[in-house]
Amino acid sequence: MTNVAKAYPNLMQPLDLGFTTLRNRVMMGSMHTGLEDRFYNYPKLASYFRERARGGVGLIVTGGISPNRQGWLLPFGGTLSSMFDVQNHRLLTQAVHEEGAKILMQILHSGRYGYQPFVVSASALKSPISMFKPKALTEDGIFSTIRDYVRCAKLAQKAGYDGIEIMGSEGYLLNQFLCARTNHRADQWGGCIENRMRLPVEIVRQVRAGVGTDFILMYRHSVLDLVEGGNSWPEVVQVAQALEAAGVTLFNTGIGWHEARTPTIVTSVPRAAFASVAARLKKSVGVPVVASNRINMPDDAEALIASGGVDMVSMARPFLADADWVNKAVAGRVDEINTCIACNQACLDHTFANKRASCLVNPRAGYETELVYRKSPKAKRVAVVGAGPAGLSAATVAAECGHDVSLFDSSDQVGGQFKLAMQVPGKEEFAQTLRYFARRVEITGVKLHLGQRVTREQLLALNFDEIVVATGVIPRTPRITGVERANVVSYLDVLQRKVTVGKRVAIVGAGGIGFDIGEFLLHDPLEPLPVSIAHWCREWGVDLQSQANGGLIEPAPARPYRQLFLLQRKTSRLGAGLGKTSGWVHRAVLQRNGVTMLSGVEYQSIDDAGLHICVDGKPRLLEVDHVVLCAGQESLAELMPASSTPAAQGGPRFHKIGGAALAGELDAKRAIREGAVLAASF
Ligand code: FAD
Ligand code: NAP
Ligand code: SF4
Repeated sequence: MTNVAKAYPNLMQPLDLGFTTLRNRVMMGSMHTGLEDRFYNYPKLASYFRERARGGVGLIVTGGISPNRQGWLLPFGGTLSSMFDVQNHRLLTQAVHEEGAKILMQILHSGRYGYQPFVVSASALKSPISMFKPKALTEDGIFSTIRDYVRCAKLAQKAGYDGIEIMGSEGYLLNQFLCARTNHRADQWGGCIENRMRLPVEIVRQVRAGVGTDFILMYRHSVLDLVEGGNSWPEVVQVAQALEAAGVTLFNTGIGWHEARTPTIVTSVPRAAFASVAARLKKSVGVPVVASNRINMPDDAEALIASGGVDMVSMARPFLADADWVNKAVAGRVDEINTCIACNQACLDHTFANKRASCLVNPRAGYETELVYRKSPKAKRVAVVGAGPAGLSAATVAAECGHDVSLFDSSDQVGGQFKLAMQVPGKEEFAQTLRYFARRVEITGVKLHLGQRVTREQLLALNFDEIVVATGVIPRTPRITGVERANVVSYLDVLQRKVTVGKRVAIVGAGGIGFDIGEFLLHDPLEPLPVSIAHWCREWGVDLQSQANGGLIEPAPARPYRQLFLLQRKTSRLGAGLGKTSGWVHRAVLQRNGVTMLSGVEYQSIDDAGLHICVDGKPRLLEVDHVVLCAGQESLAELMPASSTPAAQGGPRFHKIGGAALAGELDAKRAIREGAVLAASF
């Protein structure tokens, strides 16, 4: 504990809840992994939680478990309604307790957000993000729902949980009852706030009566709805006080409904942007309060507790990224933390696609029993060429498995294309991944050779057993008349600041990089990055004081630094291929800044006047100073032997991964995973 006192003394202080004590103030918030939905995946889920508990976290909250069939998020979602389920859940509680942490089961009734035909809500109002229209619960239905919560909580107690979290935020059922937006009832469960809060308060009261006093009852309270017709701050406080009186042990806080058009967790949201709202709630209640959303590193978490603003910090995705987050913080090894960069690419985007959640920067997340980095019985000599995400991942995992690894890159820095990604406003967090890998290279003893463009002959002369070609991609140059002119530049030149780009710009290609270049060019280079919380709130129209209902105000007028045209040949909507949970944010930023988005474009030529195009058969001239090419990538894999591998003649085995293997649909998620999977197989 001496170290605990030195590093992050406030964060690592135990939290006494009266009848039980949490070993520190760090909570792993609830995340749906997909594993909780199938009983045969519970051993995998137990390993996933065990690693996080062993990593030092004080309190873990499971993914949402529905109290009944109507509450399922997806058909046949996770439930706890029988003794058979109890046996499965015991695997989780046992694993966590053996590692000294505590675990709560989240009870989540999805209400109208359920992606299944049995959905119910306060009123029969369809949500904008689901295709199923809910039935309004009858009064009998409400009473049986309350009974289902109580039964579920009691079963959780039987399964060995230390308590439950009742999900009352993010726009799920209880939020739907709480807010006039979705509650149009005229009976005792609708109308004034006293009626609208009756269901959550009654659930807490009856659950508390059912489970007794010595069982944690955390309530996730929506402190900022970020939707029209959300609650005002006095209502938020009134509900919290009634819930506390009904038996809540501590409050977790929730920000924004899923249907909100304000981002709450993507990477462009400033760190700890909403913690002040949780701190304000703490002033009005007598039980501990937990802050959440976009907190990912120990310094920020420590500052929140040290200021006395909140009692505990919840981080969810950061524990996908690094199971050992707490142990590393305690040991003062913060530079070794694999930081969640809030990209959502392998976690939330997977959940919404009904795939198992994992993590872009940590492909082992959710695959703890399947992707194992074991010490190899035979140390091999491994060369990895290319220190982009794929090569960094392969090299560090191979070294962790005990191999003798040399990593080469022609650049004088590691990172490959990720170095460019972190130049984009709102993607500053991406630098953390490179900091992590650079440190990992040092720790695992990878021999790093920067500034060295290697050839196949050089590699063959060095007697490696395995040669990993991770040389990535190069930008594609489309065939357009005039593409070689000085007013045509590639995204590389722009992000590396090799050119001074004019005030009117056409962007050819509207994939992830086209959108990123758009954000880069809209930004005034003299304005500091990352933007402050106050600036971000003005831009998105967020009132953290929540004076208006839901905390929404008129956004500040946009001040685009340049006039942009974003173009693609496909006739589909621009940005359709971007991530499900983050793409809409990129589109919204560009739209608000007046970017002209054109699909179905035929590129004709480029000259002094600008870019000549044809849309719907009509010729058009875009009078721009520069054309920026973001027209996709091509693999760079010249190091690969042509056909029969030298391995067949007793030479090294060649492998290609990441962009070098396939440029299409490449992203860092695939690159890092491929590197890790390959290296673990050596
Ligand atoms: P690269 O990153 O291209 O790395 C290849 C490395 O090999 C380079 O460092 C290069 O110098 C080196 N090399 C090449 N040839 C040789 C040689 N002969 N000898 C030595 N070294 C050599 N992906 C996401 O998942 N999410 C995002 O949000 C995202 N945003 C992006 C934003 C921008 C602006 C850009 C440009 C990319 C973005 N990407 C994003 C894509 C992501 O960066 C790439 O998918 C990823 O970097 C590919 O990894 P890689 O290791 O295969 O290749
Ligand atoms: P991309 O997503 O494949 O987009 C390439 C764009 O170029 C498309 O709009 C394509 O549209 C256009 N294009 C392709 N060939 C062309 C040609 N010959 N002439 C003119 N236009 C052409 O690739 P990217 O934008 O380069 O991004 C690379 C990868 O990085 C992506 O796959 C992505 O996963 C990743 N990335 C992700 C994010 C993120 O936020 N998640 C951000 C940046 C990058 P048309 O063919 O319709 O014209
Ligand atoms: Fe964080 Fe991205 Fe990993 Fe999700 S996929 S946990 S957002 S780094």
